[in-house]
Amino acid sequence: MRGTMMDFPLTLPTILERAGKIFPRVEIVSCKPDSSIARTCYGEFYRRARRLAAGLTKLGLQPGDRVASMMWNHSGHLEAFFGVPCAGGILHTLNLRLHAHEIAAIARHAGDRFLLIDDVLLPVYEKFRAGAPFEKVIVVPYGCGSVPDGFLNYEELLAEAGDDFRYPQIDENDGAAMCFTSGTTGHSKGVVYSHRALVLHSFACGLGEVFGMSQFDTVLPVAPMFHANAWGLPFACTMLGARLVLPGPNVDPESMLGLMVGERVTIACGVPTVWIAVLEALEKKPGRWKFDAPIRVVCGGTAPPLELIRRLDRFGLQIKHLWGMTETTPIGTSGGLRPHMRDWPEEKKYEVRAKQGWPAPFVEVRLMRPEGEALWDGVTSGEIEIRGPWVAASYHDSPDQAHRWTADGWFRTGDVATMDDEGYVKIVDRTAEELRAFLAKSFAKWQLPDAFVFLDAIPRTSVGKFKKLALREQFANWKWES
Ligand code: AMP
Repeated sequence: MRGTMMDFPLTLPTILERAGKIFPRVEIVSCKPDSSIARTCYGEFYRRARRLAAGLTKLGLQPGDRVASMMWNHSGHLEAFFGVPCAGGILHTLNLRLHAHEIAAIARHAGDRFLLIDDVLLPVYEKFRAGAPFEKVIVVPYGCGSVPDGFLNYEELLAEAGDDFRYPQIDENDGAAMCFTSGTTGHSKGVVYSHRALVLHSFACGLGEVFGMSQFDTVLPVAPMFHANAWGLPFACTMLGARLVLPGPNVDPESMLGLMVGERVTIACGVPTVWIAVLEALEKKPGRWKFDAPIRVVCGGTAPPLELIRRLDRFGLQIKHLWGMTETTPIGTSGGLRPHMRDWPEEKKYEVRAKQGWPAPFVEVRLMRPEGEALWDGVTSGEIEIRGPWVAASYHDSPDQAHRWTADGWFRTGDVATMDDEGYVKIVDRTAEELRAFLAKSFAKWQLPDAFVFLDAIPRTSVGKFKKLALREQFANWKWES
C-alpha cells in the first residue's frame, strides 16, 4: 500500500516564500568593505530576491542556465542564492581566490552565461574577463555605489523588475547551485546541488547535533559563500529564520570579534585558521571583548588542534567540530560530547571533541581497505566512502572522474579515518600513516615512531650539531594529538 501523503516538491521557492511571510522582520546584517554596517530584513530580502528572479528572466535566463557570482558575504549575495535558483537557474559561486586563468577555465567549464559581481571585485574580473566571455555582467554596487559604463547595474535591474514574478515549474532534482572543488588534488571539479539536496541539508543544519540553530540564533558565517555555499548556511538560515551577520571582506580577528560582541552572535562558523587568529587577539587583549553568553564556534575544513578547543573554551567560545566536503553539500559528520560522557575526565572530553563526530542522519559512511570494510573499532583505518541524499553522484561534465564512485554507488572521499563503536569518525593524519608504512619496511614495529612533528629546521649549534637542549625547550609543552 502506498502512503496517502502529497508528493510535495522540496524546492527553494518554498523556503523563500516562508522567509518572506514568517520572518519579515528578522534582520540580515552586512558589513561593507569600509566596515560600516548595512541592515535589511528577510521581508526586504524576499522582495529583492524575487525581483532578481524577474530581472534575470527578462534578460533571457532559461531553466538550467548558469549564473556565476563573484561576491563577498553580504545580503546581495544572499539575494542571488535565492533569486537565481527560484528563476530556474543555477547559481555558480566563483572562488575569487583562485588564479585568473583557473577562474576563467572554471566559468567556461560550467558554461556560465551571466555574471553577478561586486563593484569592489571588478579589478579581479579585469584579470580573467578575456578567458570567460559572459553574455552579461551585472555589477552590484556593494562598495562605492557607482557602476562603470559597459556593465548592467544590479540596482537598476531590480528597480525595473516588477513584484509579480511567478516561479517556473521546478523539479526537486533540478540543479539550484554549483560549486567547484578547491582543486588541491588535480583539476577543479564541479558539483551541482539539487533543490532537494539543499532543502534536506538545511533541515539537517537545524539539528542539535549539527549546527543546532533556529530563529533564536544570530549566525555569523565566516566561511565564504563561494566555499561550499558557506557550508549551506545561507539556505539553512533563511529556512529557519536565523538572524544573519555577513562579514563581507572583513574577516580579520578584530573585525570578527567586534561583530560577535556588537551583533550578539550565537553561532559563528569558519576554518581553524580564523579561530587561531581570534584566539591570539583574545589572549593579547584579555578583557577587551566580553560576550553575553557562550558562542558556538562551528569549525571544519581542517581539524582544529585540541589545544585551540581548550584555550577558546576559556573565553566562552565553544568549538563544535564538523567534517565535510564540497561534494557533500558539505555536512558529512558533526560531533561533540554524548550525554554519557558528561562526567568523563576533562582530557578525555577534549579528545572526543577533537574528533570529527558521527555521520548526520541519512549520511552513510563506511571505511574501506584493500581487503574490505574496516571494523568500527577506533583503531583500524580505511578510506571514508559516503552516500546520502546530499552527496554528489557525479561531477559536472567530467566522465573521466567516474572512478571516484564505487560500483555500488558510494563516493570515495580520499580521506582516511578510523571509526569507533559509537560512530565517531577520526581523520587520521595521512602523512603520518604513509611515513609509518615507509619506515615499517626497514624497522621493527615497536621501533616505529608514535607521532611526527614537522619543522622548517632543527635548531643547530654554530658547528652544525643538533641543539638538543633547544629542542627540549621548544617541545616542553608538546602534547599528544588525540
Ligand atoms: P573542501 O571540498 O574544499 O571543503 O575540502 C574537503 C576536504 O577538507 C575533506 O576531504 C578533508 O580532507 C578536509 N576536511 C574537511 N573538514 C575536515 C575536518 N573537520 N578535519 C579534517 N579534515 C577536514
